[in-house]
Amino acid sequence: MPEGDTIHYAARRIAAVLERRVPEEILTPQPRHRFERWPERLAGRELCTVDPHGKHLFLRFEGGMTLHSHLRMSGSWGVYRAGQPWRRSRRRAWLVMRGGGWEVVQFDGPVLELMSDARTRSQPSLCALGQDVLAERFDEDEFLRRLRRDDPRRPIGDALLDQRTLAGIGNVWKAECCFAACVNPWRATAHVSDEQALALVSFARERMAQSARDGFQERPRAVYRRAGEPCPRCGATLKAVHFEDYIIAYCPHCQTGDKELKDRRLSRLLK
Ligand SMILES: [Zn+2]
Repeated sequence: MPEGDTIHYAARRIAAVLERRVPEEILTPQPRHRFERWPERLAGRELCTVDPHGKHLFLRFEGGMTLHSHLRMSGSWGVYRAGQPWRRSRRRAWLVMRGGGWEVVQFDGPVLELMSDARTRSQPSLCALGQDVLAERFDEDEFLRRLRRDDPRRPIGDALLDQRTLAGIGNVWKAECCFAACVNPWRATAHVSDEQALALVSFARERMAQSARDGFQERPRAVYRRAGEPCPRCGATLKAVHFEDYIIAYCPHCQTGDKELKDRRLSRLLK
């Protein structure tokens, strides 16, 4: 699933070819958007900015029109030289923007909507988003305030996925930053100190920024999808536990905190 770093990486590549330009052509091949006339409504408008926020991307056009995208599990952005083969089938393209010899394509995008710029700032689900983990200026107090407002019994690994607390972290980065900070992802948030919570975020900010700059392949994978393998830090066998619809991988030896699991449901899952 694309996380904040993937979206920032895409935003940089899109901005490099289309920002401050009027796209020569915009196509919306997905039948869902057939009658919405986006090409006509966006015709002649400059793409002013490409703004990522967590896992969301906002393409802000001249005249207060914004294309909002969220890739969820399946979507992806591609930037290609005109004529270069696309990574996914043409049938899977939802949006194509052409300009200056480049093609920007959104594939399989479950959330793609054209909205007014004002609505991007007033729609409750978007307003509720926490700070972007990759924000240039990050307000640590604001992050802690939102974390502490959440259910204190919630496991920290789960709390980090809540986009209202912090926008941009998904399963990969959650597992990796809990590992880096030696925090058991199952530890109730109440038992995670401010210092530990900030250590998690600081790792995420540093490494996700690197990944946003260099691309997906550079992500560290110490624990994610490595259950059964030896822990790169202590050699103990990494463990994976299913929780709702995802899996948390961690090292039961060096990511301490099991003793603090009081929630019966979580205890049962860990048996
Ligand atoms: Zn370990």
